[in-house]
Amino acid sequence: MDAPEMTKKSAAVLSEAKRVLFLTSAGMSADSNIPTFRDKDGYWKNFPPFKEKGLEAQDLASPWAFRNVLPHAWAFYEWRRRNADENQPHEGYFIINRWMEDKFDDAFIHTTNTDGYHLRSGCNSRQVREVHGSMWRMQCLNACSSDFWDEPAVPLCELDHDSMEAAGYPNCLHCGSIARPHILMFGDMEYVGHPEQDDNFEEFLRRPVDAAILIGSSGAVPTNDYIAAQLQGTGTAVININPDPSVNRIAQTEYFIQMKTLEALKALDAAM
Ligand SMILES: [Zn+2]
Repeated sequence: MDAPEMTKKSAAVLSEAKRVLFLTSAGMSADSNIPTFRDKDGYWKNFPPFKEKGLEAQDLASPWAFRNVLPHAWAFYEWRRRNADENQPHEGYFIINRWMEDKFDDAFIHTTNTDGYHLRSGCNSRQVREVHGSMWRMQCLNACSSDFWDEPAVPLCELDHDSMEAAGYPNCLHCGSIARPHILMFGDMEYVGHPEQDDNFEEFLRRPVDAAILIGSSGAVPTNDYIAAQLQGTGTAVININPDPSVNRIAQTEYFIQMKTLEALKALDAAM
């Protein structure tokens, strides 16, 4: 089935659906020019000093990095905060928000993205779970409490682009030690999580979900794919939007729209 026909079929499913779950990943924000760093060439191009030192994205996105190569670790996140601030949520975010308000009785967004773009686009904060956290919140590096707080300032640190080192770090509001992004990093035992968002998601899942839309999953981080597969097993119709058909191997849904996020959401919106 070609993409236009699949779009029509998927739009028909969504027209009937009352409770809908959006499962968004890297491909959602890729259309807003947010780099994912799964693609190594893109990563080295943006961070040449890290290539010289052999520091990969997974090394820097870790509590280890904040303790051992702090100027580089904070530089990595400061660069990403500035990048996310320079770019904007694309029209697809607003299409989702409009559907959530007008088309469905109840809907929820479960995202693995940390750029905060769903909240920035104005979605209801009670209807989103940022399962890997957000670069716009901070917590204590030593997790001296389970507290976390909003930190919208851009710039937040000083950033030397030549050495890719930051200085003037934010501090924990409670103990004064270094603060870090409220993000689930690699090898992270200290991420304090977001119990309120977790509870809201759990509450949403208490009743049957008519349809789930899996958007821009990378396959490298299959958190959302497993949720989609599990829901599909209990009768939820799953629509998978991705330019790469090989990523459908976990959800294996019959509704697969082979397109990039923004063009697919526009096409669905026109067909609904
Ligand atoms: Zn602290």
